[in-house]
Amino acid sequence: MTASYDVINPATERVVATVDQLDRDATDEAIARARAAFVSWRSVAPGDRARLLRRFAEAVDADSENLAQLEVTNSGHTLSNARWEAGNVRDVIAYYSGAPERLIGQQIPVADGVDVTFHEPLGVVGAIVPWNFPMPIASWAFAPALAAGNTVVLKPAELTPLTALRLAELALDAGIPEDVFQVLPGKGSVVGQRFVDHPDVAKIVFTGSTDVGRLVMAGCAQHIKPVTLELGGKSANVVFADSDLELAAATAPYAVFDNAGQDCCARSRILVERSVYDRFMELLETAVKGMVVGDPSDATSEMGPLISASQRERVAAYVPNDDQVAFRGSQPSGPGFWFAPTVLAPTDLTDRVLHEEIFGPVAAVVPFDDEAAAIRIANDSEFGLSGSIWTRDVGRALRVSRAIEAGNLSVNSHSSVRYWTPFGGFKSSGLGRELGPDAPFAFTETKNVFISTKESS
Ligand code: NAD
Repeated sequence: MTASYDVINPATERVVATVDQLDRDATDEAIARARAAFVSWRSVAPGDRARLLRRFAEAVDADSENLAQLEVTNSGHTLSNARWEAGNVRDVIAYYSGAPERLIGQQIPVADGVDVTFHEPLGVVGAIVPWNFPMPIASWAFAPALAAGNTVVLKPAELTPLTALRLAELALDAGIPEDVFQVLPGKGSVVGQRFVDHPDVAKIVFTGSTDVGRLVMAGCAQHIKPVTLELGGKSANVVFADSDLELAAATAPYAVFDNAGQDCCARSRILVERSVYDRFMELLETAVKGMVVGDPSDATSEMGPLISASQRERVAAYVPNDDQVAFRGSQPSGPGFWFAPTVLAPTDLTDRVLHEEIFGPVAAVVPFDDEAAAIRIANDSEFGLSGSIWTRDVGRALRVSRAIEAGNLSVNSHSSVRYWTPFGGFKSSGLGRELGPDAPFAFTETKNVFISTKESS
């Protein structure tokens, strides 16, 4: 341990815990323990591994209110969001507890023998996660990796280690053997970088910014190490004139301001067909001004603070004055890293607020003239993570869904993430997919074995 880190409650600016940060040597020791534990974990019978994961899910369920409260305190998430997140972790582990007995290979017809495939676990998986959804994103990596027979070392973001550390305790309480799932708090440049460089870490699952993702991928290339990347987004919410405009406007704020806009799937570009633009803006203003921004521990709050003072500064730099501001919602006064939900109406399609990931409660609304223009503007982005399409024309819904370059789209809703459907990005939003039925296979190598049936002479 080299240093300790003060964890701050972003709604009060008070220190809530002090966490030791691992140095490179401690990281290497943890990786060595994970490598040793792999030998026995991979040979735990599938039914037993499944049962241990089910127990882990039950332990998370029993602790869910505590986990939710920890996330409110550590991350400023609203209580209702944090409760959903703890439930998501439980469900993700429970879902993948069904995987160990279902890692089914193939039997392929061949001459003079039998050909079968096996899904072999990789070894030690290194998971590096961000601060915006500390609990769920951790579980999307560790649950399928453990189910496939790997051991996991997980590095939480410096700002938000508390729920991940608690999850590691719950895994042990549930009977998951020591060193099978370890949480290693520390700096990205130390612990995270070591996961990338260490020859005994067989795969990296990285969720975070596109810039760091690029570095991680370059580091993995040195070792031909497989990597899954879940990176940034600048998703479009496309509203056609024939849609249920009231519903589209009422839900749009939650699709971008949820978690104070610190959501990789935030629909932060709202594209509205020109003929209904003015009406949409009137409805949107009412909805944005009605959002309850305040103490995240209050169950009625709909938006809390930003994660840190520096994140607030970063976000504020996108709104240096009122020139582009169409309207704003409210924010509390006093301590806390607050930033009111803000709607911009940029006039230039090259404006940086339409291209850069702000990662705060700032949305930009632009009009479009027809379907082709909507698709062109939606795709005018280096990112391609999610998006929404509002229309009553089912043919158009499908045409536009197929044309938008993004991994997760929703029609007449804003849902992106279900643990049993695949999740991930196009273009600079990432590489590979998490969640869904195939996720455990991303933590295995396929091995082909041919067995001769020829009689020996
Ligand atoms: P970040 O890239 O700064 O950090 C992410 C993680 O990487 C942290 O744990 C950090 O400590 C670690 N890290 C930093 N430098 C590293 C290095 N050199 N080597 C290895 N690890 C290193 O991102 P953030 O600010 O924590 O999170 C916000 C970003 O995450 C946003 O861009 C957001 O869009 C993205 N995100 C993407 C998804 C998705 O599923 N696509 C989900 C959530 C967040």
